[in-house]
Amino acid sequence: MIPYSRQWVDKDDIQEVIKVLKSPFITQGPKVKEFEESIAQYCGSTYAVSFSSGTAALHAAYYAAGLHAGDEVITSPLTFAATANMLVAVGAVPVFADIEIATGNLDPRTVEKKITKRTKVIVGVDYAGLPVDISALKKIAKKHKLVFIEDAAHALGASYGKKKVGAHADMTMFSFHPLKSITTGEGGAIVTNNKEYYEKLLLFRSHGITKDTKKLINKKNPAWYHEMHDLGYNYRITDIQAALGVSQMKKLDFFVSRRGEIAHRYQKELENLQNFVIPKTFSDRTSSWHLFPLRLAPEKKHLRDFCFNELQKAGIGVQVHYIPVYRHPYYEARGYKKGLCPNAELFSESEISIPIFPALSQKDQTKIIKVIREINKQL
Ligand SMILES: *Cc1c(COP(=O)(O)O)cnc(C)c1O
Repeated sequence: MIPYSRQWVDKDDIQEVIKVLKSPFITQGPKVKEFEESIAQYCGSTYAVSFSSGTAALHAAYYAAGLHAGDEVITSPLTFAATANMLVAVGAVPVFADIEIATGNLDPRTVEKKITKRTKVIVGVDYAGLPVDISALKKIAKKHKLVFIEDAAHALGASYGKKKVGAHADMTMFSFHPLKSITTGEGGAIVTNNKEYYEKLLLFRSHGITKDTKKLINKKNPAWYHEMHDLGYNYRITDIQAALGVSQMKKLDFFVSRRGEIAHRYQKELENLQNFVIPKTFSDRTSSWHLFPLRLAPEKKHLRDFCFNELQKAGIGVQVHYIPVYRHPYYEARGYKKGLCPNAELFSESEISIPIFPALSQKDQTKIIKVIREINKQL
């Protein structure tokens, strides 16, 4: 079976992890700092704070943005559940705006229509690794005094305009789950240029406890003294993971270019199939190609599960990204209804993610293309 995605970990990654295991620090040592610096430098942001997962990083970003019970946050339904779940975790209300069918990304016009007096934050999601319409969303955020957060779990290594993803939003989240651009096993990060957010992210990551003498509420205390200022968690990444992350960051551009080559081959060799819609490339942004989301033509969407099964039968791993978040029973039980975001529902009903990852061989790509061409004839 060709998997739909797989991590790339090689000898020098393994060597770096072994070095840490033999060192005095296995958590929160020098490798965590080095990893954070390499992410910040790569993205062109001032600060990077690493976390135990992308989900933990989102939780921290929502805390740092100052979200409280009852605050509304506008986000995409075409995402992994964690984007919305962590909003619920801080007591905020996810408000789903519809997507553009061509990209799977938030449509800025639908976002603006959902703004109310209670709206505090917009969370854009870079679906499949293609940056969301950052300039339009930033303009809306500025006009209505909202914080703009980018869920770039798919998009480390992508760029928008002349800058990398991570250099644009108030806070940008990355995930280092094995199927994302780089991996640390589990892990995540927030990048930001804002010092106040940076300090809140650090506090939240470590139990809400500070040792910073300038920040202590009770002054004149001994050297060992520390204070807890807010409710926080243990969301720290280990030095073992960070060593893997530092080593993987060195290969990030190679990973992204390999994914790009595969995507361009698929685009070239699948574009004329009458029953499928192929993701496009854009001149103002580049994708990190986390996914290659194939879609059935709208009039053929009832054949999606047939195609899915045929691909699996031919030994090709496939996935559906995603069920619109509000269609999960948890959200339905909270009053979200079918029909809320028609484009996201149509996209979800017609989508199949086909294999794309740096180690996917030419031979396997050829097989995948051949099988899809054969399925196209049967529809
Ligand atoms: C993977 C992912 C997350 C969560 O990241 P984890 O590191 O798995 O916790 C959040 N949002 C999106 C869009 C993702 O794909």
